[in-house]
Amino acid sequence: MHNAYFHYDQPKNEPVLGYAPKSAERIALQKALAEMKSSTRDIPMYINGKEVRSGDKQEIRPPHETGHLLGHYHAGTAEHVKQAINAALAARESWAAMPWEHRAGIFLKAAELLATKYRFRMNAATMLGQSKNAFQAEIDSACELIDFLRFNVHFLSKIYNEQPISTPAFHNRMEYRPLEGFVLAVTPFNFTAIGGNLPTAPAMCGNVVVWKPANTQIYSASVFMEILIEAGLPAGVINLVYPPGPVIGDVCFEHPDFAGVHFTGSTGVFQTMWKNIGTNIAKYKSYPRIVGETGGKDFVMVHPSADVDAVAANLARGAFEYQGQKCSAASRAYLPSNIADAIKTKLVAELKTMKMGPVDDFTNFINAVIDQKAFNSITKYIDGVKNSNGKASILHGGNYDKSKGWFIEPTVIEAHATDYVTLCEEIFGPVLTIYTYEADKWMDILDTVDHTSGYALTGAIFAQDREAIEYMTRKLVNAAGNFYINDKPTGAVVGQQPFGGARASGTNDKAGSLLNLYRWLSARTIKETYVPVTDYRYPFHQAD
Ligand code: NAD
Repeated sequence: MHNAYFHYDQPKNEPVLGYAPKSAERIALQKALAEMKSSTRDIPMYINGKEVRSGDKQEIRPPHETGHLLGHYHAGTAEHVKQAINAALAARESWAAMPWEHRAGIFLKAAELLATKYRFRMNAATMLGQSKNAFQAEIDSACELIDFLRFNVHFLSKIYNEQPISTPAFHNRMEYRPLEGFVLAVTPFNFTAIGGNLPTAPAMCGNVVVWKPANTQIYSASVFMEILIEAGLPAGVINLVYPPGPVIGDVCFEHPDFAGVHFTGSTGVFQTMWKNIGTNIAKYKSYPRIVGETGGKDFVMVHPSADVDAVAANLARGAFEYQGQKCSAASRAYLPSNIADAIKTKLVAELKTMKMGPVDDFTNFINAVIDQKAFNSITKYIDGVKNSNGKASILHGGNYDKSKGWFIEPTVIEAHATDYVTLCEEIFGPVLTIYTYEADKWMDILDTVDHTSGYALTGAIFAQDREAIEYMTRKLVNAAGNFYINDKPTGAVVGQQPFGGARASGTNDKAGSLLNLYRWLSARTIKETYVPVTDYRYPFHQAD
């Protein structure tokens, strides 16, 4: 019975728990970590609501403790992707027809389960599988994912409320249909919350989804899938599969019912996807929605009037939290000559206090990078400094060790040329490059900040001079989709700083906002006329 409008008021952001020694949450999290480590999980794919085991078992090990086995996941093939698409399409009609309050109820229940019953299991899975410390896991796999679910329900209810104007003679209305086909969600390793949001945002809008997470995030992704099932998600609405990346593309982008892709990951992969979609465009029933948030080379521009302590503290957090493996991580900083030495001294002193090691020791600030491939790629940049012919030097760190896990020290590179490679390319690890410019030429360096990389994801400026703040905000208008004044460029909160970048950093559809949800909807306008005309002639046709 549909005879009422239901409200979903603006939620509050999920409070971040502190995990101080002896706190209830710390004890609960330590218990969950011990439990998860004491058994090995056998992780299936989920197709049409059923657990699917291919038998092709791949090991999952903590990046910080590669000698320990957490479990296996069952790798998928093209056949599993086809089954997932068929299951999604079969579920489509009844899911799209399900009244909004019931769809919303599933995702709000999932948020509540995550906030209560499963909070510590989810955080423990993220800590072990992706090598995040307790705080980094809490802000990601608990708070941000809960916020995505609750805020998206609120935003979608606002969209459904938006209606055109009518007159006494006819009624106009808009229906916000889901897309006609299936949506592919392809998600990265670095945020459990992104893994959860990319399939659920389109599903909430009534779409059916094939979800492929990064292999290195399957351990926590599967916990979220269990929560969605417990929350009542019908079979086939979200199908979780683990084929190699190129296989998912080959099958989905050839399919006539492919309706859109919700991607977060590297720029190169997204560009390959876009090309494939373009090549196949004539095969599709509709023009697919292409939404991708991709790489970054995020800057910190320090003005001569900046506060030295604020710059040092925010560089330490912004560049090195989660080992710099955030798309938003500060990876290049431009320091003015008048305070550069003071900032460097303070920053190095701070970095010396950062402990590195496994996640179960809560005193560690730095954990491991995600896998061997990342370790090799990041350390190559560090080794390159030694062969740079004086173009760069290591100010701090530079050591690495893979005997127990993929550990790389927080490393600060000092570049002596603005085009040095580590100032230009995304490294995606605990590496910050700094460049010192002549303080009285601060306006000139802004062009370098703007054009050194093709990315435009996040950026920060530090200054106390208000005119300088206004000038830099204006000059750097296209340099970042998320722009910070006197703050680090990381740590966007759902509902507070809608997140995404432009240029090579993505389509800037701002995950966790109204803008993103519009991409998963296809509006139908209906005009109903109460008393239709019965004569085609207009009054002007009559003779004088
Ligand atoms: P990635 O591009 O290696 O992988 C992302 C996903 O794409 C994974 O699921 C992977 O298996 C899949 N994939 C790989 N090759 C594929 C192919 N040919 N076809 C289809 N799918 C394929 O990225 P990653 O290492 O998981 O994540 C790090 C990257 O993500 C960084 O570049 C980072 O900047 C970016 N990122 C961006 C944002 C943002 O909001 N802009 C957020 C997080 C991460």
